Amino acid sequence: MKSWLEIDKTSDFSIYNIPFGVASIQDEKLIVSRIGNFVIVLDILQDAGVFNDLDLPYGIFIQDSLNGFIGLGKKVTGKIRKTIQTFFSDADFAGQFALDRDSYLLDANMVRMALPVSVGDYTDFYSSKEHAFNVGCMFRGPENALMPNWTHLPVGYHGRASSIVVSGTDFIRPAGQIPNKETGIPSFGKTKELDIEVEMAFIVGKETQLGDTVDVNSAEDYIFGMVLFNDWSARDIQRWEYVPLGPFLGKNFASTISPWVITMEALEPFRTNGPVQDTPVLPYLQQKGNHSFDIPITASLITKEGIETVICETNFKFLYWTMVQQLAHHTVNGCNIRIGDLMASGTISGKEKSSFGSMLEISWKGTQPIQLNDGSTRSFLLDGDTIKLKARSEADGIVVGFGEATGTVLE
Ligand code: CA
Repeated sequence: MKSWLEIDKTSDFSIYNIPFGVASIQDEKLIVSRIGNFVIVLDILQDAGVFNDLDLPYGIFIQDSLNGFIGLGKKVTGKIRKTIQTFFSDADFAGQFALDRDSYLLDANMVRMALPVSVGDYTDFYSSKEHAFNVGCMFRGPENALMPNWTHLPVGYHGRASSIVVSGTDFIRPAGQIPNKETGIPSFGKTKELDIEVEMAFIVGKETQLGDTVDVNSAEDYIFGMVLFNDWSARDIQRWEYVPLGPFLGKNFASTISPWVITMEALEPFRTNGPVQDTPVLPYLQQKGNHSFDIPITASLITKEGIETVICETNFKFLYWTMVQQLAHHTVNGCNIRIGDLMASGTISGKEKSSFGSMLEISWKGTQPIQLNDGSTRSFLLDGDTIKLKARSEADGIVVGFGEATGTVLE
């Protein structure tokens, strides 16, 4: 496929991508797509008749989240995506509609993107074996690093949806109870161990009813697409509060997602197998076929002065548990899921130190500070630091990228 529109080869948004997002345009929120450095105003294409064959509801693209659109079902949203692809690759098809290019293509640098979905419930898994092992080593030693349950089920917890923010939303360094290292007595103050977690998340595209379970081998029908996810974490607050019910205020002050939802259709060329699961799993977790995706991810730290250092190069395919196993496990007890629910992977670490997905691991609890390109070092984030996550898959000339998920720590 090739577009009649000139698209920079470095762009994440090739003709093969065609993601969906929500833009804030003149006090209005609109469902949009993206190609190269242009935001595509889909409502204008609909008005001109581009989607006439699909019999879409009138004004379907004038909405402040993707939830209603996703609710049309994958069959319909898949056809919408294909029609957009045809429009931009077939000049004759596009020519029929006598549209002025400037009316439906906006310079992406001039468009403010909003949160793409209204997230009802957010779940965070813990599906990277390397990450679980590293953190376990630091706190319990290598012998007991992985808890006995870890290879039998995708460990997860229910997170907070209200503080999920779109890329570009800055946040204030959180405060909380932090125990004194010697006495163990807590005092109240700003976190000194502000960290990142390099993750990806999927968005649920189809609901179930209370009591329903999702079969592991049809679970992909329930996944609309994926985004980048940074699960900012205050380690000192987390360490004090997490026993026995798990993370709470150390993680719910902000979680950043990228604005463009990359559809599973776009990710199909990058399908691959994940790590071998050597411990046999129960039947409800036994997946057939390949359910992982080769998606290289980077995290960079940008100082207040604008000096950028890549601190992590990892890959979604390193995850031990797949999205379909996560979804099968999540619903095996009859827990219902809803359109727009967001399920994050957990920190994605690989085997090499350069692929560790948190500063806690890269700096090994602060014992090996991270060297930055401006000569300074970090064990954890300073005020003014920005973290930028990026992801981009490439195979046989097909490029599908995720854009960015960025956030800056304010004092
Ligand atoms: Ca996490």
